Amino acid sequence: MSDWQNDASRDLMSLGGRLALLTHGEGSHVWDDAGTRYLDFLGGIAVNCLGHAHPVFVDAVSRQAATLAHISNYFASPAQLELAARLKRLAGTGEQGRVFLTNSGTEANETAIKLARLHGTLPVQGRETGRTTILVLDGAFHGRTMGALSLTPKPIYRDPFQPAVPDVRTVQHSIESLEAAFDDTVAAIFIEPIQGEAGVVELPDGFLQRARELATAHDALLILDEVQTGSGRTGEWFAFQRFGVVPDAVTLAKSIGAGFPLGALVTFGTASDLFYPGTHNSTFGGNPLASAVANAVLGHIEDEDLLANVNVRGAELRAGVEGLPLVTGTRGAGLLIGITLSHPVAAAVREAAHSRGLIINAPTEDAIRIAPAYTIGDAEVAEFLDLFGQALGAVASTLTPTETPA
Ligand SMILES: *Cc1c(COP(=O)(O)O)cnc(C)c1O
Repeated sequence: MSDWQNDASRDLMSLGGRLALLTHGEGSHVWDDAGTRYLDFLGGIAVNCLGHAHPVFVDAVSRQAATLAHISNYFASPAQLELAARLKRLAGTGEQGRVFLTNSGTEANETAIKLARLHGTLPVQGRETGRTTILVLDGAFHGRTMGALSLTPKPIYRDPFQPAVPDVRTVQHSIESLEAAFDDTVAAIFIEPIQGEAGVVELPDGFLQRARELATAHDALLILDEVQTGSGRTGEWFAFQRFGVVPDAVTLAKSIGAGFPLGALVTFGTASDLFYPGTHNSTFGGNPLASAVANAVLGHIEDEDLLANVNVRGAELRAGVEGLPLVTGTRGAGLLIGITLSHPVAAAVREAAHSRGLIINAPTEDAIRIAPAYTIGDAEVAEFLDLFGQALGAVASTLTPTETPA
């Protein structure tokens, strides 16, 4: 083990291996302590939407840090007000929308769970009050804090921490399962429009639309977790805008700050009236520094029409990987792409890529995830396809002939 690995295992919680000691980055590349250059197509897990050390990011952090960094929510700041108005506009909430700013995705989802609880206490004619059931999808990932974890059915994440928050029910990926799960105890359904951590898994056709109808019919909230899919990642500001569905609330984080920790809950319609003074808050949430960075990042994406680039580059990448060894297909939208493999060798492909200077991720045994910066161009697409093709070829050559697809 090298020095830094010794330090890491002595001083950091033991929660999984660290792949390299990264020291600096520029654009879509990062460098490790030995000077090895990597093409970063994971982007800090779908976070670094402008790549590394982008001048817009650097400038926003520096200027706001030198002006006013933190004040608490006893006060407002111009940056926070600008961000709230911007998120309402981008989400299309209209006048009635409201915004609560957080420091992470899981915290945005905690806020949404409390929103669901408040909603469940409302008296509704002919319905039970004290409705506490929350519906979640099989394969969902909503975060690691106790509430969000309770909405995350994956056993390795949740089981060591039982008892979880009660009354959470898991729905399978079918409209029949969705219809069977709704009853008058349901306060909310949480859905990722595309499940990132599950391997970039899309919902069945019509699923989101049916969830909207059922939530409305049962007076439950439709809460979309767009922590990974939001902030332009899928080529629209929000993935729900691809489906023509309007939620009651949506959560954001990851790309919204391009690397600065920040999240948000955005509400629509009457869901905006549920919280009242005393029911929720945060010390750091929405501080001027985080807000100013998000304004600069989102403003830059808008000014440069980077969402068009997200769609174009996403299509190029998906077309480019077709026909590479082991690749059976692609999933996702924009620059959130899952690449499915014919064999359960995603971990080996990730390692082979790493050793060739390419950072990708293997969320499941047979799927690779990429989530590069919105700023990638021809050169990054070509470099990715070259390195990824080499990695796939190397792994394919290790499979025995009977395992090699025809
Ligand atoms: C990453 C993620 C979260 C958790 O966000 P953190 O910032 O890591 O707390 C929640 N939901 C989804 C869909 C995510 O991708």
